[in-house]
Amino acid sequence: MKVTEHIKKANGKTLFSFEIIPPKKGNNIEELYNNIDPLMEFNPPFIDVTTSREEYVYIDKGNDLLERKITRMRPGTVGICAAIKHKYNVDTIPHILCGGFTKEETEYVLVDCHYLGIQNVMALRGDSMKHQQYFKATEGGHTYAKELVTQMNDLNKGKYLHEVVETNYKTDFCIGVAGYPEKHLEAPSLQTDLHRLKEKIDAGADYVVTQMFFDNQKYFDFVKAARKLGINVPIIPGIKPLAVQKHLQLLPQVFKIDLPEPLITAIEKCKTNADVRQVGVEWAIQQSKELLQAGVPVLHYYSMGKSSNIQQIATAIF
Ligand code: FAD
Repeated sequence: MKVTEHIKKANGKTLFSFEIIPPKKGNNIEELYNNIDPLMEFNPPFIDVTTSREEYVYIDKGNDLLERKITRMRPGTVGICAAIKHKYNVDTIPHILCGGFTKEETEYVLVDCHYLGIQNVMALRGDSMKHQQYFKATEGGHTYAKELVTQMNDLNKGKYLHEVVETNYKTDFCIGVAGYPEKHLEAPSLQTDLHRLKEKIDAGADYVVTQMFFDNQKYFDFVKAARKLGINVPIIPGIKPLAVQKHLQLLPQVFKIDLPEPLITAIEKCKTNADVRQVGVEWAIQQSKELLQAGVPVLHYYSMGKSSNIQQIATAIF
């Protein structure tokens, strides 16, 4: 079922969902299942599976020589979506990226999704590669998520690339896109970024999932500003419980988001990462309670592999 249909069917009740990361290649899928198993009692109607683009790896050739290879360390997003869908009978949402993929490759992935009965896809630009300062489109690929949304929406109209296929048979993807309550790090202003978000919706996106935020007011203001611009689709808040001390520096640096003073103070008082994890859980519970009260359609959690903290939060909320 589509995300928008799940939300409609819930009839105002807030749903629980989460995002997982495929294992590094060479690992099996059991550990992932072990992390998903405890979360299934909270009845997520859908689970997101992230995609990582290619990266450089360095292979030690001996004699102080390193060979540089380019590879995808966490492949298998669509395969994992199919495996989870089959095992738990839950909808799964593959994240589809512009970066690292040509339009043709994207079309093949979408065709696979369609055959597998995957009805929801998340359209994302992806980040620059680690050695690049700015995002550079892959040759033959898209530059912005909006173009990816257009390609998905074209398939929904039966329009394939290069017009080699003429068909009345259409896909019916429900398309999600990213939104940034504190603006995307490259955007010159929040308002400009909101206009870009509107362009993604106008291109055919059906719902928005937000970047993590730690101050709910940022989300409430974002939703208000989005509505003012005519963005009327569901805006699902993304919540990440802080888990390690170094998140204090890392999250503002990587995502250009602010952390509230009381949260910083509480984390700084922690002696171990177990203490930090607990503070992160408690903060996320407070955030979730307030968002629940505000009637958000879904509470969506970034699990980053280990789910015990999400389980604690879900137990307190759902
Ligand atoms: P876009 O919407 O294309 O926007 C990127 C930037 O370009 C913004 O600053 C925007 O304002 C600007 N822009 C847009 N259109 C134009 C234009 N026409 N002209 C000039 N500027 C423009 N990353 C992954 O690698 N894998 C994942 O699985 C993944 N999942 C994510 C899930 C969520 C919910 C979120 C919020 C992010 C996720 N990301 C993921 C991170 C995402 O790929 C990055 O934040 C990326 O830098 C931007 O992606 P986007 O889809 O928002 O890009």
